[in-house]
Parts: sequence; C-alpha cells; structure tokens
Amino acid sequence: MSVIAQNLAAVRDRLDRACRAAGRPAGSVTLVAVGKSFPAPALAQAFAAGQRHFGENYLQEALAKLGALPPGTAVWHFIGPVQSNKTRDLAERFDWVHSVDREKIARRLAEQRPASLPPLNVCVQVNVSGEASKSGVAPAAAGELCRTVAALPRLRLRGLMAIPEPGAAREPYRRLRELFEELRADGLPLDTLSAGMSDDLEAAIAEGSTMVRIGTAIFGARTK
Ligand SMILES: *Cc1c(COP(=O)(O)O)cnc(C)c1O
Repeated sequence: MSVIAQNLAAVRDRLDRACRAAGRPAGSVTLVAVGKSFPAPALAQAFAAGQRHFGENYLQEALAKLGALPPGTAVWHFIGPVQSNKTRDLAERFDWVHSVDREKIARRLAEQRPASLPPLNVCVQVNVSGEASKSGVAPAAAGELCRTVAALPRLRLRGLMAIPEPGAAREPYRRLRELFEELRADGLPLDTLSAGMSDDLEAAIAEGSTMVRIGTAIFGARTK
C-alpha cells in the first residue's frame, strides 16, 4: 500500500469515528482530497485508492492536473480565492466552486457555465471568524448572496463554506451551522456544509459538516 493509500485509510477511519461520536451515519460526510502543491502522480495514487473528490486552490496549478485522472471519473472542486478574470476556466473545468464570495463572481460563473454541462455546484464562502484578512462574505450578507446564486441559471446553490482560524475548535463551526440552519429555515435549498480540514475535522463534523477538505493528512506536509 502506498503512503497516500495508508493516509487515506486513516482519514476515512477518522471520518467514521467522528460521525459515530456525533451520532451521525457513517458515510454522511464527503471527503475532498486537497492536492494543492502536490503533483499529479500523488493525486493518481489517491485515485487508485478509491478517492474520487479532489480539491484545488490555485487555478494554474489545477489546470495542469485536471487531465491526470481518467476523464469523467473524478469530481473537481475549486476551493481557493476566485479572481474574476479566471472564472471561465472554473465554469468550464470544475464540478464545484466552494469559494463564491461576491455577486460578480456568481454572475460570471453563470454566464460562462457551458449549457452542455450539468449546473455548476456552488457554495457561498462565509467569513465566520471576522478577520479582515480572510475572504468570504460577512454572515449577515450570506443570505442575500445565496438568493442571488439560487436565482441564476447554470448554477446550483449547494451550501456554505468556511475556513475558520486554526485552533479555534468548535465555536466558528457552531456559528456556521446556525447560519446554515437559519438560511434553510428561510427556504434556501442548502444541503452542503463545506467545513473541516486536517486538524479540525472532528470539530467540524460534530457541528454538522457534510464535506471536509483534507490535504496534509492525505498527502503530507506542504513545503510551499
Ligand atoms: C489547504 C486547504 C485545505 C486543506 O488543509 P489541510 O490542513 O492541509 O488539510 C482545505 N481547505 C482550503 C480552502 C485550503 O486552502
């Protein structure tokens, strides 16, 4: 077994245990393997070990890797900051964009998503930690952006995404979950909470995450 296959097995085990501890069914959380800074062969090893959802942060780096896995088999998630001049590649090449944080980006993705493809799955990124340096809409503005996304053609609103500051444990995930439940109660069709990374997936799952984005625990420490 490759190191990556062993790491993946360990992460799947952590996910199962976290689900059990939270009283949630095993398999209720989707694992997105975050390959940023790792080359295509590392992703291919994860693929060989059964991994199907892959996340990337940087468009240029991602474009070089998208062709590395058999076409139509992997599900590609863009999780990095979106520049408005890069939306076309995202609309044409990805299955999900987790990091939509302004209306302009949503509109461009909707215009540029090819009609031949299924709607692009979209999460609205929320700044639950309130730090000026982080991207994401303020929690109070998330509902309006969700409604904009839901009304646009070629996009499918799926949920919320957040990247809380490291070491903050459950508190930001609890706030994210409360916002998610509030928006659902308002009638928004949200089914995805994209939350949790290598160090804090247990806290995220305890607070209802349905999709974790894991890099280090699968591929190892990043050197850049
Ligand atoms: C890098 C990254 C991850 C994965 O982080 P790890 O700590 O390596 O698991 C998840 N989400 C986003 C948005 C990232 O940039």
